[in-house]
Amino acid sequence: MTFDLIEANLKRVRENVRKACEESGRNPNEVNLLAVSKSQNIEVIESAYKVGQNNFGENYLQEAKEKIDRLPLADWHFIGAIQSKKTKEIANKFNWVHSVDSERLAKRLSEQRDPKKGKLNILIQVNTSKEPQKRGVHPDEVYSLAKKISVLSNISFAGLMTIPAQSHNEYVTSSCFRNLRQISEQISYRLCLEKSLHLSMGMSNDYLLAIKEGSTWVRIGTMIFGPRDKHL
Ligand SMILES: *Cc1c(COP(=O)(O)O)cnc(C)c1O
Repeated sequence: MTFDLIEANLKRVRENVRKACEESGRNPNEVNLLAVSKSQNIEVIESAYKVGQNNFGENYLQEAKEKIDRLPLADWHFIGAIQSKKTKEIANKFNWVHSVDSERLAKRLSEQRDPKKGKLNILIQVNTSKEPQKRGVHPDEVYSLAKKISVLSNISFAGLMTIPAQSHNEYVTSSCFRNLRQISEQISYRLCLEKSLHLSMGMSNDYLLAIKEGSTWVRIGTMIFGPRDKHL
């Protein structure tokens, strides 16, 4: 991927985000773009950074560490499966974690986060499609987990994340997104939260649907950086 191509891709994605906001009567400033850079090399990530992309998402700690060292001023988001033995590094190298799905992991991240760094932003991953093999908390259990993690000291409960069912039916996809928004509204109400919660939903093939349903973080890899190696 050349610098020019990445710049053009980013421009196109941002423009599409703006249009989708306009069509659904939303303020485009509410929708943040997370560039998912897993399996991409540092050069292409630097290209994106140079044209103003500041937020990057990574799924694997080992792979992310070197990139974070090279671009320490960017905001780094962990979006992959969290292994217990890696929580300390995840808690301190990243600014956001979108994939928390247990109280135990949230507690470890809070305990291991260096308080000098400020609070780590945490999102709960929700299994809105209720597929048994999928990570994420069952929709009925989100409130109870949110309540427990919102009192932890070094993390800030910032919202919910979901990966919808793989489906070519837009209705099925949209209903996962809508479900996430409804859960977040109930939680905000029941926990009397002042700030509205973030909704991390929408990837290259469904981000426009996600914006219509209220997404505030779209996580885009392929549309910015092109296809990844198959094994990742
Ligand atoms: C890889 C990944 C993405 C980006 O997917 P694309 O289809 O390439 O946009 C988004 N979210 C998560 C959790 C991912 O693992």
